Amino acid sequence: MNNLGLYLHVPFCLRKCPYCSFYSLAGRTDLHDRYTQAISTQLRSFSEEYCDQSRPLISIFFGGGTPTLLPPETLSRLLAECLAQFSCADEAEISIEVNPATVDAAGLHVLRRAGFNRLSIGVQSLNDGELRQLGRPHSVADAVQTLQVARAAGFDNINLDLMYGLPEQKLYTWQDTIDHALDLQPEHLSIYELTIEDGTPFAQQQKQGRFSLPDEDTVLLMLEKTQQALKQAGFDRYEISNYAQPGYQCRHNINYWENGEYIGLGAGAVAFLNGTRYTAIADADQFCKRLECLSNGQDVWAEKEKLDRDAAFRETVIMGLRMTVGLSLLELTDRFDMKSEMYYGETLHRLIRQGMLQIVHDRLQLTAQGLLLANTVMAELV
Ligand code: SF4
Repeated sequence: MNNLGLYLHVPFCLRKCPYCSFYSLAGRTDLHDRYTQAISTQLRSFSEEYCDQSRPLISIFFGGGTPTLLPPETLSRLLAECLAQFSCADEAEISIEVNPATVDAAGLHVLRRAGFNRLSIGVQSLNDGELRQLGRPHSVADAVQTLQVARAAGFDNINLDLMYGLPEQKLYTWQDTIDHALDLQPEHLSIYELTIEDGTPFAQQQKQGRFSLPDEDTVLLMLEKTQQALKQAGFDRYEISNYAQPGYQCRHNINYWENGEYIGLGAGAVAFLNGTRYTAIADADQFCKRLECLSNGQDVWAEKEKLDRDAAFRETVIMGLRMTVGLSLLELTDRFDMKSEMYYGETLHRLIRQGMLQIVHDRLQLTAQGLLLANTVMAELV
């Protein structure tokens, strides 16, 4: 597993979506310059202290938050600094997340010229009522326009993020969203079921009975219709929640699912190198302060965890099973000097007998039934 990716986190958002439990900050424009300066410092110290600069990056991903709340020139400068500090494979995938109406045509041209070659647009729904219910600060027209402008700027690898199982959502409104999304001809779709996370305004509203979610059968039907429509349109479901046209699978995320190594920059970002997981402090003010005082010997990590062989083995299995091709048992044995049959024993055999897992040409993978009940299967293997 020699792949190396780089993730750069921009935690700023226009406003906080009521379902969001990610680390993100609304309205902190005062911090933008200081934060980008801190990232530049972290980038330099990272390449000196933690990894071999000559090892080429296979992917770079600027995510958030809403990265495009920073000026396109600032994002381009940060990308140039990444490329100056690390070598980068030819044809590396360089993605940036964009929320509709946060970047205009000129800005997208700047990003494309800087080297970003993949765009991930946070569309979530193509129904204005649902977008309002989700508290999204954009409309369907904004999302469509962002995609059209991105095409004109030269982006030929575009992902749309969508969510189903939304409050008051009907099967037909979800089908309309899927049909409309396919009409827009993206190369990639990330499609997640909404989960209501504790501590979010949505959790509170749900407790107060202010909305109801579609029932389990409707949600299953939504997933079924999604799979049918996407298959018909030539998309391959290559991960539980991700679908791509041939050749457009997201390499950056595949590296995560293969439990490969990655650099993580920014507040709350995670890095995984030499068997150690580093999690940066999820507080942008503190993050900046610590990088401004690096000479005091403080670092930005809230947590450093050295994974032992068993933990790394389990993680590799769980992550690998997220991909529909699963994982190679031979490679697993080579990497950890441990066999999955010996490690999981009867549990593995039972899951195979129950039709949740299968072994196809050396690859352990979830069956169609296992994909539907993936969380339950993973819980048995974790
Ligand atoms: S835009 Fe994304 S990261 Fe920001 S608050 Fe909304 S869901 Fe969270």
